[in-house]
Amino acid sequence: MASPHIANSVWCDRINTMELPLSVLGNELLMEALDSVMSGKRVTIELGVRLHNHAPLPGLAALAKLIKSSRYGDHVFFNENLHVNTTNICTLACRFCAFRRGSRNEEAYALSAEEFVSRIEPFAESIDEVHAVGGLHPEWTASDYAQLFRLTKDRFPHISIKSLTAVEIKHIASRSGLSTFETLRKLNQAGLDSLPGGGAEILVDSIRDRICRGKESSSDYLRIHGEAHELGMPTNCTMLFGTIESVENRITHLDLLRRQQDATRGFQCFVPYPFLPDKTRLPEANLATAEEIIRVISISRILLDNIPHIKAYRMNIGDHLATIAINSGADDIDGTVGHEEIMREAGSNTRADYRGDDLARLVSSSGLTPVLRNSDYSLLTEYYQSEAIKVRHLPIAG
Ligand code: SF4
Repeated sequence: MASPHIANSVWCDRINTMELPLSVLGNELLMEALDSVMSGKRVTIELGVRLHNHAPLPGLAALAKLIKSSRYGDHVFFNENLHVNTTNICTLACRFCAFRRGSRNEEAYALSAEEFVSRIEPFAESIDEVHAVGGLHPEWTASDYAQLFRLTKDRFPHISIKSLTAVEIKHIASRSGLSTFETLRKLNQAGLDSLPGGGAEILVDSIRDRICRGKESSSDYLRIHGEAHELGMPTNCTMLFGTIESVENRITHLDLLRRQQDATRGFQCFVPYPFLPDKTRLPEANLATAEEIIRVISISRILLDNIPHIKAYRMNIGDHLATIAINSGADDIDGTVGHEEIMREAGSNTRADYRGDDLARLVSSSGLTPVLRNSDYSLLTEYYQSEAIKVRHLPIAG
């Protein structure tokens, strides 16, 4: 059955008025996918698998870019935010995780509420979002997090709090004797504005059991996000790929997300990121190549017809690949970040100290227009760099 959302989408109609890239026109498989999109049908799991396995990358990226452009033209979004990790102490030990520590490890830490706000203080004037995730602390309850969020809102009322992944919500609920819905409501009332999407990994329980045993099930992940949507809280969703999953697993994951979105409509942005192997315990992982990363980002844009934004998460894929990703279906490159531990521990060396100007330059040097957004994309400002881009004159041939 055609989804009413896609059938009536303005962006979908707009494709009719756009010139089709030759690399799409010349390929039967890509034209089949485009026909599905244009006729308001959904790109099926079966077609998604065929696209992943057989579509030529230049055409696949061009089709994803066409769909992205039909929604946002040449705009690419970023925000001015700060990442703060509340604690690296975690009761679980996911095999792909380089960040967690046992509570007696000498590198273990847990920020107090005061320490948390003091991390924000130096950035408070320039950011409008704090992105805070951490391990599953063995003692913290919903009241501890409520206190943290209240203090943050008291000090910085203009900053939107995006915090706690679905598994953190599940853990805190169980520590507090509350349902996940009651936990979300309590934390929302204390100042929690939205949830990040981390922890989805691959939404296939047999894979989860091998890479992150003990984490929430696929249906728990989707249910908790649905509950947040019911409370009016937007959330992101993610996919960790390049561990032990198959192509079918990846496409099933995308399908589950769009089904959840059909039901509760609160996903803002999908963030696909590849597994980084440093200091982890997953030697059998099939690491994703750069080609595969772009392929997954492009397929995400083509399949996720009802999720507005696709992020090129540069902290994970790096700046260079991010510039290709925003020309292959992604429309967002996340934020200034300020500080990041989870990807760094896993081997990322992407700079986390960018200012808005640096991000704008990254976008404009890719031939696109940078747009500064706020946390929930309700305020968009075309961004003009304060420093002129240096023009280097090329020698004249002949
Ligand atoms: S991924 Fe999250 S839940 Fe798993 S071990 Fe790391 S911090 Fe803990």
